[in-house]
Amino acid sequence: MKNLVIVESPTKARTLSHFLGPEYKIIASMGHVRDLPRGEFGVDVEKNFEPKYVIPKEKIKSVNVLAKEAVGVEKLWLATDPDREGEAIAWNLLQVIGGKSQPKVGRPLDESYSRVVFHEITKEAVLDAFSNPRKLDDDLVSAQQARRVLDRLVGYKLSPLLWKKVKSGLSAGRVQSVALRLVVDREREIEVFKPQEYWVVQAELESQSEGSKGKVFEATLIKIGAEKAEVKNKEQADKIVADLEDANYKVLEIKTKDNHKFPNPPFTTSTLQQAGANKLSFTPKRTMRIAQDLYEQGLITYMRTDSVNLAPQAVDAARKFIETEFGKNYLASVPRGYKVKSKLAQEAHEAIRPTNVQVTHLRQGFGGQASADHQKLYDLIWKRMVACQMAEAIIAETSVDVSAQVLSSKFKVQSDGNYLLRATGQKIEFDGWYKVYGKPPVKEQVLPDVRANEMLDLVKVNSEQKFTEPPARFSEATLIRELEKNDIGRPSTYAPTISTLYDRAYIERVEEKKIAPTPVGKTTADFLVKYFPEIVDTSFTAGMEDDLDKIAQGKQEMAPTMEKFWEPFAKQVEKVAEEAEKMKVVVEETDEKCEKCDKPMVIRYGRYGKFLACSGFPECKNTKTLSEPTGLTCPTDGGNIVMKKTRRGRTFWGCENWPKCKWASWTKPATTKNTEKKTESTEKIVFNTENK
Ligand SMILES: [Zn+2]
Ligand SMILES: [Zn+2]
Repeated sequence: MKNLVIVESPTKARTLSHFLGPEYKIIASMGHVRDLPRGEFGVDVEKNFEPKYVIPKEKIKSVNVLAKEAVGVEKLWLATDPDREGEAIAWNLLQVIGGKSQPKVGRPLDESYSRVVFHEITKEAVLDAFSNPRKLDDDLVSAQQARRVLDRLVGYKLSPLLWKKVKSGLSAGRVQSVALRLVVDREREIEVFKPQEYWVVQAELESQSEGSKGKVFEATLIKIGAEKAEVKNKEQADKIVADLEDANYKVLEIKTKDNHKFPNPPFTTSTLQQAGANKLSFTPKRTMRIAQDLYEQGLITYMRTDSVNLAPQAVDAARKFIETEFGKNYLASVPRGYKVKSKLAQEAHEAIRPTNVQVTHLRQGFGGQASADHQKLYDLIWKRMVACQMAEAIIAETSVDVSAQVLSSKFKVQSDGNYLLRATGQKIEFDGWYKVYGKPPVKEQVLPDVRANEMLDLVKVNSEQKFTEPPARFSEATLIRELEKNDIGRPSTYAPTISTLYDRAYIERVEEKKIAPTPVGKTTADFLVKYFPEIVDTSFTAGMEDDLDKIAQGKQEMAPTMEKFWEPFAKQVEKVAEEAEKMKVVVEETDEKCEKCDKPMVIRYGRYGKFLACSGFPECKNTKTLSEPTGLTCPTDGGNIVMKKTRRGRTFWGCENWPKCKWASWTKPATTKNTEKKTESTEKIVFNTENK
């Protein structure tokens, strides 16, 4: 064989084979071929923090295959992904099959390899990469190695400390711990938040002018005399209402303006994950898995990127598509370019976009294997790309200021008896890019055509009690945005950071798409804040990420960077191990008794959320799924229906009389409380309350 090409996955190999001739053999490494050892520290802190890489047991066989394939080939092409991770895989591959370490069979480590990099698996990009090969970029490899080592230093030293001082089985990670702290801090803000009462006063007014006669609209009180209207309680609101019910209303001023709404820039990893969560309810992990499939099938550009840059040809293609499909009106007047925020000029990829804008349905390019999820995510990426070259949406906004002059000379509120109200209306004048991407929730309200100085008739005055809202809990989308805003995430880390927090039961899903810390999560964050403030400090972590970027750019060395972190950190670990007291995790009690040993059941948290466990643990290992009342009635025996979760976190509905009554359903039963009608459960559910 003349040419051997190594990529990470069989899918990528298959796609690549369409573009390279039969003289190229393409094989998959199946991801990383070497990693730090599992059961030991694996970093030589005395020797420049050198990582001790090993070939994991399950990889030895495939590495042997790779090494044998490499023997005698004329040219070795390393075509792994175009980022630090891919560069490191390529470097490790070369070390392994280059014969330097095990297995012993292999080609000599020489210069006859080429590193090829492409950001999309299309004919043009691939052929271009193969005619412009380079050597491995040691700086990128160092940066990946530095991240791996740094994470190992933190994880390997902090986790045992957490076991001793908080609870066994816990883990701490670098980025993961800061993310946890953000979630815990937010929860505490919510806990101490005191809602403030306020009142909204509105007048329903009727126009008397020609053409608008009889049209009623609502105006909201904004000023009392010269002061901003701040209505704090019912007493105050009632007085204002009394004043306003006895007043003359006159239109003071009408303002109209066209608000131009620009489309969002094309997707980066972070914004794709956010949109995936908001629009498709995908976890970041799921979004990335599907995006990777699309990339490996050659349908989208590389999915790990922090760049919003677009190739000029891609912009041209999108613009041609828009003009043909929607007409010139919908085309942005000039091609839109987007600025890269990231400082990593040399790693500057492209935004995530379709490789061929003509492909709108995946059957055309996916060999008919596209699942609904693939189609949905592709759609989202396609729409975002097309929309970014479309014309702005235009929203016409109108505001009408209305004065209310109290008629009686004895007005109740201390002012000059003069109030100001404002009505606002908005209307989508031109939908522009909304046509493709969908419009945001614009509340369209058209005001009647009133004129300045026109007198209005009062229909009714309304007042409504409101309370200020606490800050919102993070969702997966807003947490990613927060990580990015604080410069502590990178395209490769958002998804694993969030899924690790779930896996460790540090956070749980509550209400609609929101995240809250579990008691263990709170205690762990408290422990880290108290003893390792830097580890959970956003600017410290951002500084470390910045150091890693500098290593990638060749502006900084790995060893001194590690040293700077390691020395104070190792000392602190020792100190805390000796001095810190054990922290207590709050345990939530319940009224339920264990049917095996009669001890109270308590709430515990797992990867998939809450469940009930016996407080007699470890003597009694009884656990149960936690059930929530639904107010619905069982169609079989009239018992109450409760909502429960399976061990794997899937929600189902069951009868409280289980095991006597076997009624259960995967879907929420109809809300009718008619016990006559028997609801068929769509799928038979087999479950038991035992843990093992
Ligand atoms: Zn028990
Ligand atoms: Zn029942």
